[in-house]
Amino acid sequence: MAVDSTLPSAVGASVSEKYAKALVFIEEMTKNVDSVQERVLAEILTRNAETEYLKRFNLKGATDRGIFKSKIPVVIYEDLQPEIQRIANGDKSPILSSHPISEFLTSSGTSAGERKLMPTIHEELDRRQLLYSLLMPVMNLYVPGLDKGKGLYFLFIKAETKTPGGLLARPVLTSYYKSEHFKNRPYDPFNVYTSPDETILCPDSIQSMYAQMLCGLIMREEILRVGAVFASGLLKAIRLLQVNWKEFAHDIETGTLNPKVSDPSVRECMSKILKPNPELAAFVTKECSEENWERIITRIWPNTKYLDVIVTGAMAQYIPTLEYYSGGLPMACTMYASSECYFGLNLKPMCKPSEVSYTIMPNMAYFEFLPHESSTPELSRDSPPPLVDLADLEVGKEYELIVTTYAGLCRYRVGDILKVTGFHNAAPQFRFIRRKNVLLSIDFDKTDESELQQAIENASVLLKEFNTSVVEYTSYADTKHIPGRYVIYWELFVKEAANAPTDKVLSQCCFEMEESLNVVYRQCRVADSIGPLEIRVVKNGTFEELMDYAISRGASINQYKVPRCVSFTPIMELLDSRVISKHFSPALPHWNPERRP
Ligand code: AMP
Repeated sequence: MAVDSTLPSAVGASVSEKYAKALVFIEEMTKNVDSVQERVLAEILTRNAETEYLKRFNLKGATDRGIFKSKIPVVIYEDLQPEIQRIANGDKSPILSSHPISEFLTSSGTSAGERKLMPTIHEELDRRQLLYSLLMPVMNLYVPGLDKGKGLYFLFIKAETKTPGGLLARPVLTSYYKSEHFKNRPYDPFNVYTSPDETILCPDSIQSMYAQMLCGLIMREEILRVGAVFASGLLKAIRLLQVNWKEFAHDIETGTLNPKVSDPSVRECMSKILKPNPELAAFVTKECSEENWERIITRIWPNTKYLDVIVTGAMAQYIPTLEYYSGGLPMACTMYASSECYFGLNLKPMCKPSEVSYTIMPNMAYFEFLPHESSTPELSRDSPPPLVDLADLEVGKEYELIVTTYAGLCRYRVGDILKVTGFHNAAPQFRFIRRKNVLLSIDFDKTDESELQQAIENASVLLKEFNTSVVEYTSYADTKHIPGRYVIYWELFVKEAANAPTDKVLSQCCFEMEESLNVVYRQCRVADSIGPLEIRVVKNGTFEELMDYAISRGASINQYKVPRCVSFTPIMELLDSRVISKHFSPALPHWNPERRP
């Protein structure tokens, strides 16, 4: 067992008392994983003993793991949907949680095309804040001097709605940034952002990003780290600079804010920051007008020590682009979290992206793990599933994460597959392997195989009048362009060449597919973080060639299935060399914050 038991010691006086305490806390939690987990489960079961959900399974007040495991089923979102719907409709009785559900967190994971609604309770904000408060003490061990400058972070809030019963439904980060915990956070010299809160809290994400970028340009020499939550967010900001650098240079030269930023509180706070600075404007113009944007991050922000962005999981596809823009700066993946629960942090944040392992903090929830092998049968309702506790995991094995939260999710399958890479004290450390069933992802969107299949079926209805059908298809998440887009390869069977579908029809098919995809895809598309979906029609016989290729590499003819998503370069090259026409979605799909009835 690989045991990593010591954190490097903090540099004496530069670390505040608070930071030292945070490190002690991490040590205590990771040394006592099992007893903390036992306590957390007992706390959750005690407080929720009278909930309708726990009573249903006859727990009769038991708080020990054995009884809990034998009586409570492992569930997915759809199993809890009736309870969640009742809470959303205004039923305030203790259904899942004895503490009132304070709001719903809208996950980027979807169910029937809509975002999943995760119940939360007010005190979860304390837990989230606690996890945030551990990040800088750890980072400070590896990167000295972060209190001598600022962080340029692109942070955003998103649209929120109300459920029929009047509860807010919004993404977890929106909930956090709008909370008093964030707005009234105590001053911390290691954690000073260039973005004023007014810019982060601006509901218009383009105005918000514009103002945050402008602050970053103005304070460029003070900036020691550049980041966003996910890699895709930082790349969006770089693209904004690429498209609007003339506007930024003008604002800086004249000391006036672009009138397109109309939010009054953003205008007011920017008026205190923005002063005419022709020299800086000339610098921005010089750097941004160059054709070559390689190392643009370090050219504009020369003191940047690292990028603070998650590049694990679906975000790994952005590593080469970020390396290009940053000249190979380290990328710190600090945290692993979700709407259901914040899980843990990376205790070696300056490691290479390929080596990132997250340590789950045992105080956040009660965690169980379903061993994940390709042969793992689906869970049966009759026999209790063989779930393993946090303290009992084995290095090298993969598991699916299952949580029981203070807010009332019991044995809930998060859908993430994690691999144990080692231990910090008694706490396992995990590499994020993948999210189950995600075929395509560009930003926050997650499209699974059945959603793609449905979208293709809906689009191919338009081909009927041309006596044409889709013989085979596959897909590709093209993140070489910014914004990235879904590319769908289609092999068509056209019965009458004279009546083949036109570009207009195939473009309409692209649009129809976009309309059919889930709400998170459509929202990202409307927010311009995903570009127009593209259909590439390939020559007849291409998919047969694809099969020949797979068989030549050892696939069995009997078991061969067309991959519904591809990324392997030789396959991409084969497909692209057979393309006969390309078509793009001509319009934005419909999206509004309201849930579809
Ligand atoms: P959401 O429910 O929309 O907040 O999304 C949470 C999901 O995002 C998690 O369950 C993971 O699949 C993914 N995620 C969160 N943090 C990370 C991370 N550090 N690395 C990889 N994937 C992550």
